[in-house]
Amino acid sequence: MKRISIRLGLTLLILVALAWGVERFSDANRYQLFGKIIAKVHTEDKVIALTFDDGPTDEATPEVLKILADRGVIATFFVNGIAVERHPDAMRAIIAAGHEVGNHTWSHRRMMLVSPSAVRKELEPTDAILRDVGYEGPLHFRPPYGRKLFSLPLHLAREDRLTVMWSVAAETFQPDQTAEDIARRVLAQAGPGDIVMLHLMFRGNANSRAALPVIIDDLSARGYRFVTVSDLLSYR
Ligand SMILES: [Zn+2]
Repeated sequence: MKRISIRLGLTLLILVALAWGVERFSDANRYQLFGKIIAKVHTEDKVIALTFDDGPTDEATPEVLKILADRGVIATFFVNGIAVERHPDAMRAIIAAGHEVGNHTWSHRRMMLVSPSAVRKELEPTDAILRDVGYEGPLHFRPPYGRKLFSLPLHLAREDRLTVMWSVAAETFQPDQTAEDIARRVLAQAGPGDIVMLHLMFRGNANSRAALPVIIDDLSARGYRFVTVSDLLSYR
C-alpha cells in the first residue's frame, strides 16, 4: 500500500513537471521543435525591428502611422485576419505606407494544442485576406501569446516559413505600467539586432502609443535605424 502511494506520488510529480516543461517550452523565444525561429539577429550594426501585434483597428492605425511617417520609420505589423476583415481600410493604409505585414492568425487563438486543420484555418485565410487587400511582401508568422508546440511549428516548417518572436517585450501588462515605464523598459533593453514587440491597436494600449515616439526618438538620437523584420534578417 505504502509502495503504491509512493509510486503514485512520483508519477504525479513527473506529470506535473512534464506539464510545466511543456508550458515553458511552448513560449520559448529561441526554440521550437521544427522550422526556423528568430527572436533577434546577432549584429553590431545599430538596427532594430519594431514589431506591432494585433489589429489593425480604425481607432489606432492613423495615429500609429502618423508617428512612424513623421519620423520616416518603417515597422512590421503582425495582424489578425478577423481584424483585417473588419478594418480593411486601416490595413490598406498600413500597406500603402510601405510597412511589412505578418500573419498573427485569424482569431488570435492560443496555438498550443491545436489540430493541423485548426492551424490551417487560422493561417491560410489570414494570408488570403492580406493578399486580397493588396499586400505583396513576405508573410512571416508570429504566434499569439508566443505559444507554439507541435502542429503549428510543423505546419510552418513545411511551408518553410519563419516564426518571428521578439527579444524585447515593451509591455508587462500590469495595469500600472505608464507610458514612461514602457519607454524606459524598451530603452533599457534594446540594442543592435533586437526585435521589439509593442501592442498599439486597442483602447487599452494608449500608454504604448504614447511611448512609441519617445522610443523612436531616443534610439534615433543614439544612432539606431529601424528596419523591417525581413531587412533585419539580412544583417545575420
Ligand atoms: Zn497578439
